Amino acid sequence: ATMREASVKQTKTVCTYCGVGCSFDVWTRERRILKIEPTGEGPANGISTCVKGKFGWDFVNAPERLRGPLVRRAAADGTETFEPASWDEALETVATRMRAIADEHGPQSVAFIASSKATNEESYLVQKLARAVFGTNSVDNCSRYCQAPATQGLWRTVGYGGDAGTMDDIRAADLVLIVGSNTDQSHPVLAAHLRAAQKKRGQTHIVADLRAHTTAQRADLFLRPTPGTDLIWLSAVTKHIFDQGWEDRAFLDRWVNHEQIYRESLEPFTLQFAEATTGIPRAQLVECARLVAEAGTVCGLWAMGVTQHTMGSDTSTAISNLLLVTGNFGKPGTGGYPLRGHNNVQGCSDFGSINTFFPGYQKVEDDAARQRYEDAWGVELSTEKGLDNREMIDAIHDGSLKALFLVGEEIALVDANAHYVQDALSKLDFFCVQEIFFSKSAEFADVVLAASPSLEKDGTFTNTERRIQRLYKVMDPLGDSRPDWEILTDLARKLGHDWGYTHPSEIMDEIAATTPLFAGVTYARLAGYQSLCWPVAEDGTDTPLLYTDEFHLPEGKARLYPLAWTEPSDQPDDEYDLHLNSGRNLEHFHTGNQTHKSAGLNSIIPDTYVEVSHELAEARGVATGDWVRLVSRRGAVRVQVLVSDQVRDGELFMPLSSSQHAVNYLTSNVVDPDSHTPAYKELAVKMEVLDGA
Ligand code: SF4
Repeated sequence: ATMREASVKQTKTVCTYCGVGCSFDVWTRERRILKIEPTGEGPANGISTCVKGKFGWDFVNAPERLRGPLVRRAAADGTETFEPASWDEALETVATRMRAIADEHGPQSVAFIASSKATNEESYLVQKLARAVFGTNSVDNCSRYCQAPATQGLWRTVGYGGDAGTMDDIRAADLVLIVGSNTDQSHPVLAAHLRAAQKKRGQTHIVADLRAHTTAQRADLFLRPTPGTDLIWLSAVTKHIFDQGWEDRAFLDRWVNHEQIYRESLEPFTLQFAEATTGIPRAQLVECARLVAEAGTVCGLWAMGVTQHTMGSDTSTAISNLLLVTGNFGKPGTGGYPLRGHNNVQGCSDFGSINTFFPGYQKVEDDAARQRYEDAWGVELSTEKGLDNREMIDAIHDGSLKALFLVGEEIALVDANAHYVQDALSKLDFFCVQEIFFSKSAEFADVVLAASPSLEKDGTFTNTERRIQRLYKVMDPLGDSRPDWEILTDLARKLGHDWGYTHPSEIMDEIAATTPLFAGVTYARLAGYQSLCWPVAEDGTDTPLLYTDEFHLPEGKARLYPLAWTEPSDQPDDEYDLHLNSGRNLEHFHTGNQTHKSAGLNSIIPDTYVEVSHELAEARGVATGDWVRLVSRRGAVRVQVLVSDQVRDGELFMPLSSSQHAVNYLTSNVVDPDSHTPAYKELAVKMEVLDGA
């Protein structure tokens, strides 16, 4: 028994799934995961975890894990296959091919996409590889597909592209306004805390969404707008607050600029117009305005239901405007909270894998910032504008982008209009994919590098609260796979740049020395369950609640930002007569490449499905379990029906978690012009019933 106990290890880690950022101990014997134990010290979760954090780890030891690099080779008969290669050969191939392309066609012919599942240190290295080694600012991450509009809305109005406060503030608020988020399923532990606050303290919940999901069912007020009209009701509610004189006059006078021009932009948003366009009864709009204005403290939460629209940035801005007009920033229990989706999607942009910024949101055209990195890295850096994810796909199609280095991102299925994206990937001169599985994207690759998931490495993640937390290596990498930071360091060495890192803590030290936002971040200050919310001053003082002294904009004041409304794209017509919405479910995560490898999670939900209302099911003669074909103006997918009372007649809902039937075979190229985030949620389809399939 003693020997068996001795081989059991207990290691602190951070969940690999959603942006809540639950911390817990993982108990292992060798590679076997024995149990997940939240100790109560996790600053975001306390003693809670959800089903994914607790049971979603089978993927770590799944037979599908890549155990070493693969290189595409042509056989004598012209066919091509992927064959195992040594690390030396694989990295040499990547270095040689990418260098040759950059030399021949210039630095803008190569681009990099970082992973929101990898660590902060690894995000920093991806952008360092792009900028310092290849001289391009073309580096981005998956926030382009989800949260870039929310960040845009916050930059415009309050200054920092992150949540205003922490889970403590959300828990403490008198009222929580939740827009376009099924928090119960997408951010389960936060949802559990919200339920407790509602029950124990009488916290008021206003939920606005298309579906009557459980988060909406529990709300004190549920607003159900016509798809694509959130900006209208938000602006009408804000206008009504002004019209009634319910605004926080003292706060506006002291802290907010541009009130007049913003009020003028609100003129069209009368209650009458809002009721007619959103379908939300006037009485509910007035009730919403009254509740928000009367509450002592309000937090505004939002997610993909807001951001993934052509008006994603503007609607995010509208939420922030409403919070400013009612004085709900800078005090405990207040603020704007985009709910980040991935464990480290916040950190991936924070640490510089974004085309417009060096780490810590320092503009690439800022001479002082550039000088700091030039000195630290010993290179000259480019000021030329880099491409974001969407621009990269277009640039491959137009022939100017020829090589892509993709880390831990299933771009072939998660970017919108999968046919267009996959067509682009097939046109690349050189494509390197760094992954833990042989993904759909990897099918288009020339070289596949076998990476390690979170349990096999040291590093840090940043959750939705801007909270940096430490994860510790639980086990050695599987087979011949390696942590991303090691692969990137070795690749840079092959390209003549000796970074010399022997541990991720050294990468963080370099970041702290060059990036004011993280000046006081050290591994010592993050030991165990300790954490830091950025900005972190040099003496280690962090900032759980932003804007208590001033806003992060000129004069230290916030800005009300004028808005107008335009029609959403891809509207239903006589042929494509249904609106298709998409999102997460509790048991699975995105394409499901991790969660579908857990037998327990799979037994609950084996594949995706489409939710159909009772009325529509009856009209079309379909029942739960029947197969239908959903056809959009771009493509078609085959999927099983789930008759549900959560969707309205004329509206469908499909979870994301499927590789075969991905909703993105249907979505379009239309993007939010301010952030280039695809309008995934603006999607008209027709539904064809398949006989006996
Ligand atoms: Fe992981 Fe999110 Fe679940 Fe927490 S709530 S255990 S971070 S998936």
